[in-house]
Amino acid sequence: MPPRTQSDSPRELSEGLARSRRDFLRTAAGMALGSALLPSSAHAGPGMTTGKRKVIVITFGGGARDQETFAPEGQENIPHLMGELLPRSAFFTQLVNRGILGHYVATASLATGVYETINNFASLPPEHPTVFEYYRKDLKRPSYDAWVVAPSNGFNRIGESSNRSYGPGLGARVILPKHLLTAAVSEGRRDYDHLLRDNYETPFSAPELRGGEFELQQLEEILKLSVDDFKAHARTLSSPDELSVYIVRQLMRQVAPSLLWITMHDIDIAHAGAYSLYIEGIRRTDRLCGELWKLVQAEPEYAGKTTIVILPDFGRDSDDDAGGNGFQHHRTGDALSRTTWMLALGAGVREGVVYDRPLESTDLVPTLGAMLGFSTSLVQGKPIAELV
Ligand SMILES: [Zn+2]
Repeated sequence: MPPRTQSDSPRELSEGLARSRRDFLRTAAGMALGSALLPSSAHAGPGMTTGKRKVIVITFGGGARDQETFAPEGQENIPHLMGELLPRSAFFTQLVNRGILGHYVATASLATGVYETINNFASLPPEHPTVFEYYRKDLKRPSYDAWVVAPSNGFNRIGESSNRSYGPGLGARVILPKHLLTAAVSEGRRDYDHLLRDNYETPFSAPELRGGEFELQQLEEILKLSVDDFKAHARTLSSPDELSVYIVRQLMRQVAPSLLWITMHDIDIAHAGAYSLYIEGIRRTDRLCGELWKLVQAEPEYAGKTTIVILPDFGRDSDDDAGGNGFQHHRTGDALSRTTWMLALGAGVREGVVYDRPLESTDLVPTLGAMLGFSTSLVQGKPIAELV
């Protein structure tokens, strides 16, 4: 990172960030600098929309800064992304989130292509149609073809919006692995406390979900997991995101949805204030992204026809902003907390290329629409030309 001063404008800071990331990646990873004018060679084109292609979106864990990820000093924390995924990826150095920097509302914005303004801590659906609704309604896809695996009870409404033309019955099915585990271990929860912590932020108001029967039915009938096997396996896992990836694996094998959205959240333990836990979260998320990539290659339903998109929901505060506590929170709204990265790899994506122009969080949904061939009429963003 170049040294910066308090007088730098947000635009200058963003440009500096992008420049340093791009310059490093071009040399270290041997990647070419792409251009929006350059036609991509491994391009699938709009013709590849026959319904065979699958897309997996992975949000990289609840606020991650460049300096602990793709900036030169952070790369040691992400060996799987750097060594295995990046060389196969189109990498975008500058993804800007101009919305509210809370995890639920920001993830909802990523999923609707509109900067949502719903209360981050309330159990509310997004106000604009989600990518799952566009996908299912336009392509007439059944409910089992779009799924969300989400980290906490606060995400239970993310699958479908309150929009009157879409909404109930047209969204994604949402699995909350912690909720499954809570239902499965109605007694003896203490053994699983490290997997059940639901929210790292204050106010601490993620809704307590009721019920349990439906979750157990999901386990046994959809995921083909017995309650005992699930409980036994959960004991071997170290974090909520590991639990999510375990559920994702079952979901891919048993249901093989074509549109799968995985929200990671371990990194947000940074709110507790321990830098080592934050770094541990990043390292684990990096490892889990590597595992998911391998899983895609190993599953016949996914191998060779799946595009994966990985991106943080946003960054975290900079160390030199007096209004924040650096890595711990994301509340200043400074350039560092709003600017992050995105990588795309797999089917239809040009490999080993870096794109430096600024994109917005709201560009994801129209891009997914163009990839899979469905319309996304109410979005604010634009399809990313380099991916479609
Ligand atoms: Zn957070």
